[in-house]
Amino acid sequence: MYGLGILKGMAITMKHFVDSYLDDIFWAARGGRYYNDEALKVRQGLKGRGVKTVFYPEEKLSVPERFRFVPFLVTEDPPPGQKWGKDWCTSCGICAKVCPPQCIWIERGVQPNGRPKPEPNEFYIDIDICMNCGFCMEFCPFDAIKLDHDYELASYDRTTAHIHDKERLSKPLSYWREIAPQKAAAEAAIRDHVEDLKAWKKEHGRDADPADAPQLSEEHTKQLFYRGEYY
Ligand code: SF4
Ligand code: SF4
Repeated sequence: MYGLGILKGMAITMKHFVDSYLDDIFWAARGGRYYNDEALKVRQGLKGRGVKTVFYPEEKLSVPERFRFVPFLVTEDPPPGQKWGKDWCTSCGICAKVCPPQCIWIERGVQPNGRPKPEPNEFYIDIDICMNCGFCMEFCPFDAIKLDHDYELASYDRTTAHIHDKERLSKPLSYWREIAPQKAAAEAAIRDHVEDLKAWKKEHGRDADPADAPQLSEEHTKQLFYRGEYY
């Protein structure tokens, strides 16, 4: 019957509306409307109730670990007294090749003898063209490019402010660990395992039986599984 569906829909909307206030009262009694970790976790999870309206930009909800916005470049944490750590990017160019809208430009470094240097001299991403697909991150063999959680990038000047250069793009590994702790841990476990395998191959030569190669620890296996599940 026409009209019944509309009434059902309105009833659901009304339920969420009322739930919002009930949930606010529930969490207010436990230390604040959104501003404690437990409340955020529940309200942003599957058990969240009500309408999630906040007074942005005065109020901001934290984003989940999977959130992906424009890319940044991972560097080592800077040594004491220095502004920048070593680039993880080797300037291989894979990200620029796979980027569907072609918004990455890289200028490879050059050694004094004229040979290519495995780090970028310049690295640009046009964030207005980037569609946040994450291909660059997925294809980078060096875990050197990641998608950020910083979504407040609007400005009045698209000519310069929206073309991020290497300095703007570079962020230390500690930042990646902070915004994506589980993913960063999974990547570190896999890198460690690859290093173990390389050392084993070097020690035992080509004729060694692969069955004797180092196996992933239980923790590493969990991390690998987690990584596979992640996307
Ligand atoms: S794929 Fe990774 S290492 Fe290669 S240029 Fe891109 S960010 Fe650098
Ligand atoms: S997220 Fe996608 S569109 Fe953006 S730079 Fe990476 S590959 Fe290109």
